[in-house]
Amino acid sequence: MKSNVLILHVLVASLLVILSAAQDFDFFYFVQQWPGSHCDTRRSCCYPTTGKPAADFSIHGLWPNYNDGSYPSNCDFESRFDPSEIEDLICEMQTDWPTLACPSNSGIKFWSHEWQKHGTCSESVLDQHGYFQAALNLKKQANLLQILMDAGTEPDDRFYNLNRISTAIREATGYTPGIECNVDEDGNRQLFQIYMCVDTSGSNFIQCPVLPRSRCSSRKIQFPSFEGEEERTDG
Ligand code: AMP
Repeated sequence: MKSNVLILHVLVASLLVILSAAQDFDFFYFVQQWPGSHCDTRRSCCYPTTGKPAADFSIHGLWPNYNDGSYPSNCDFESRFDPSEIEDLICEMQTDWPTLACPSNSGIKFWSHEWQKHGTCSESVLDQHGYFQAALNLKKQANLLQILMDAGTEPDDRFYNLNRISTAIREATGYTPGIECNVDEDGNRQLFQIYMCVDTSGSNFIQCPVLPRSRCSSRKIQFPSFEGEEERTDG
């Protein structure tokens, strides 16, 4: 009898280990942001202490999500962001994942926030290094600015058809993006963030099971200009 109870305990303990290690989300949103739109709002922005960002889409985050549109957050308070674990990625992060928050800082605060809120919810699949590396790799897989420019949609303060932007990305990548707008000081809706969906390994784009709220509320949206930094030669 005692041995049966012991076996039951071991089985329950093993099941708990398996469950806690199981992947606990359905897909990722890979979110890129147009710095010109981030900076063109009442809240404005501050450039990182490491230099003005390039005129390119930059990473906002890689967010575990559920198929019903909800998402997990802050899944592991024990797991602290540790820059020493991603030392080899910092240079690339400064270029591709720049902070625009005020006061001006190096980016550690932004990356730490993204890890704590989102990264800890995909820890069963990607450790800290794997998580940031996955986002950097995804950015290389879809050059959004090039795709939009090739479709004649440029960051020149003009207004473009929302459908034209979405179609250009779908035709170039094979996947329909989610487009999120924000509003500038004059009340114009502008192209703010582009969401691509990614499988739970963090490496392949997929069709989005659910699209995020667009907040665009008009057919034509502005693509603001952004005077980026000259091409960087250092890290
Ligand atoms: P999240 O909490 O990941 O959904 O992202 C929202 C938070 O990220 C807000 O506090 C934003 O102000 C902040 N945020 C968005 N874009 C940037 C950026 N480029 N640099 C720094 N903070 C940002």
